[in-house]
Amino acid sequence: MPELEDLGRENEELKKRLAEMTAEASNNETIMKRTQARELTLLRADTLSQLLHALVDGLRDSYSLDAVSVVLLDPQHEVRHLLVAGGDRPEEFKHIFFVDSLVGLAPQLSVLHKPWLGPFVGADHHLLFPGMPVLKSAALLPLPRKDRATGVLCFGSRDLARFTRHHGTDFLAHLGAVAAVCIENAINRARLLRAGITDFLTGWHNRRYLQQRLKEELARAQRRGGTIACLMIDIDKFKSINDGYGHLAGDSALKEVAQRIEGHIRNMDTAARFGGDELAILMPEASAADAARLGERIREVIAAQPFSLNSQISRSLTVSVGVATVSPGRDDMDLKALADHLLADADAALYRAKALGRNRVQVGAG
Ligand code: GH3
Ligand code: MG
Repeated sequence: MPELEDLGRENEELKKRLAEMTAEASNNETIMKRTQARELTLLRADTLSQLLHALVDGLRDSYSLDAVSVVLLDPQHEVRHLLVAGGDRPEEFKHIFFVDSLVGLAPQLSVLHKPWLGPFVGADHHLLFPGMPVLKSAALLPLPRKDRATGVLCFGSRDLARFTRHHGTDFLAHLGAVAAVCIENAINRARLLRAGITDFLTGWHNRRYLQQRLKEELARAQRRGGTIACLMIDIDKFKSINDGYGHLAGDSALKEVAQRIEGHIRNMDTAARFGGDELAILMPEASAADAARLGERIREVIAAQPFSLNSQISRSLTVSVGVATVSPGRDDMDLKALADHLLADADAALYRAKALGRNRVQVGAG
């Protein structure tokens, strides 16, 4: 019965095809689930630095890639500044390249409108994957925002067959789009965070941040024992600068006062613009004598040279400084009250410095 044989063979063929399709569907489902999980990790990253780690290390591990790097357009260096403001060091992100334009690293990046997949070509791609000479294929995914790319996600593999021009690119295009939105979100969140705690004129922290830090430092000093010192610095007769030379001249003097002080404070100190022409410095683990020494140094660097208010006019300025300290005991329950007390003491010392004739440092509420 040849017909029956044919039918039997056809049946076998169909079964085999069905098995293949089932396997492919389940494989696709695995890839899809893994992709969804990976995208969720990107979406959930709390900070810019977490997101960059999730992009590089996370994607490399979950897709078993040999190399992953991210090229980010950052012509104003804003992304790097935001990372620094968040306590990170941009140079530690070895696989993130911050660039002014997309042409420098690889010629094809600037004209990339959809994912490019193909053989790794040393001459074209080596800058994207430094130190990885053994790569055989690569995928370059544009990170699209509105009508242009804000960067490129680069995947490298030692397997020549991993990325070829015959592979579909929809899934990679989707991943690039998700990554781009996540990056933009993280940048916006970092901007907001920074705007909420930074004074725009001086670039120093603002009063709100100082008060938050003070609470944290008090809690730490309470656990470990130790003294926290606070300096309140106020420009003497600052109003006369505004009145005599205008508000902009006043702004520029205020900025320069902050700049001159910056070089003299320790890494662990917190400097903030407390308000108006009043600056504050928190010194964890410092005695009243340490703080008074810093106060004296600050007084000197301000008085030492005149400030140029505009191209023609320069004027000498002085500051008065008040210093106070606190050593929280184990049974001090109300850290907020302790914080207010420290600031009030420093302010009282500052007031005495003003009353005694300005251009001086006073210690303690006394
Ligand atoms: P002293 O502290 O020695 O008693 O005298 P002062 O003239 O500095 O008095 P006070 O500290 O009370 O005044 C501070 C002035 O600083 C008043 C305000 O107009 C000015 N000011 C506050 N914030 C700014 C600012 O952002 N830019 C400029 N240009 N001026 C500011
Ligand atoms: Mg003043």
